[in-house]
Amino acid sequence: MTGARGRARAAAMPARGKAAMPARHDSLLVTHLPNVHYLTGFTGSSGCVLITPRRRYFFTDFRYRDQARREVRDFDVRITAGSSLDGCCRYITARNLKTGKIGIDGAHLTLLQFKLIKRLLKGMAFTEAAGAVEKMRQVKTRAEIAKLRQACEIADAAYGKLVRSRVIGKTEKEIAWRLESAMRDGGSGPTPFEIIVASGPRSAMPHGVASERVIGKGELVVIDMGASVGGYCSDVTRTFATGPLPAKLREIYLIVQEARQRAFDGTLAGAAASGVDALAREHIEAAGYGAAFGHSLGHGVGLEGHEGPVLSRGSKDVLAAGMAVTVEPGIYLEGKGGVRIEDTVLVTDRGPEALTKFPRELTRLS
Ligand code: ZN
Ligand code: ZN
Repeated sequence: MTGARGRARAAAMPARGKAAMPARHDSLLVTHLPNVHYLTGFTGSSGCVLITPRRRYFFTDFRYRDQARREVRDFDVRITAGSSLDGCCRYITARNLKTGKIGIDGAHLTLLQFKLIKRLLKGMAFTEAAGAVEKMRQVKTRAEIAKLRQACEIADAAYGKLVRSRVIGKTEKEIAWRLESAMRDGGSGPTPFEIIVASGPRSAMPHGVASERVIGKGELVVIDMGASVGGYCSDVTRTFATGPLPAKLREIYLIVQEARQRAFDGTLAGAAASGVDALAREHIEAAGYGAAFGHSLGHGVGLEGHEGPVLSRGSKDVLAAGMAVTVEPGIYLEGKGGVRIEDTVLVTDRGPEALTKFPRELTRLS
């Protein structure tokens, strides 16, 4: 973690002063691990954060004692005997902490955890604070952008390797594994989602994870994948051809390519996310394929493969410099095939920058 990141985080959520906290809660209890990672730098798999008007605490169990000391800065680190959440609640009562109303994240608490909190913190006031940290995560710092950039480069390089290898006659699963190995060899951490390799008629399934299907000649192959660096994910889709395609499939490729370009050009700071979605959607609708573009245009990328903002028809989000979002229009024709072209795009004050740069022209796989 660099100083730049620490400074930005301190500015986003200062350690002291009630004025710094969102109005609806006085303290914040954070259990969702990507949020915990974001606030503290902790990359282990168990821990929670409590931010009170006076102090910031990080709780984890003894398995992570050394790791927490290494990774967590600017937090009072407490090692718990039981689960981190259990320990946090017991600490609050044992020390009689002045928390005021505690914001909890209902989107990421199980019913059991909620019952535990209610039992151990009997009589205390709670309020729903879902999305409080996610909102801060949308705008990335320079250090975060550097990691995203690296994750994008690793995925691009894996595509580069793929086009130099033989694909026809291999199963989708073999190709998915080849790509995953290439990304891991290239320095990626765990891939943020199962790699999609959808060939032939299966390419019409927007989320067709790799199957045992053998890739044939003259087909479309949709590949959607991502790498991760320091927890930060990339997300990139390319659609390839394994030889000459029917006219209809060539046509939809061009329409999706144009739709991607239009939406990309409009991925600007200050733009309504719904408006960016419309740039792609209206182009696809005008070409007569509106019904075949059934998903939203894109989403934020960061510590999670899918995060805010949402680029969709109904989105209320507004883009800002420092956001990393995907632009991923598609057309899916049942029984025939589908096309999606997706980039991870950085919104800047100087316009959009595609962090994934692999060529978007229809590329032939042999
Ligand atoms: Zn994707
Ligand atoms: Zn995506």
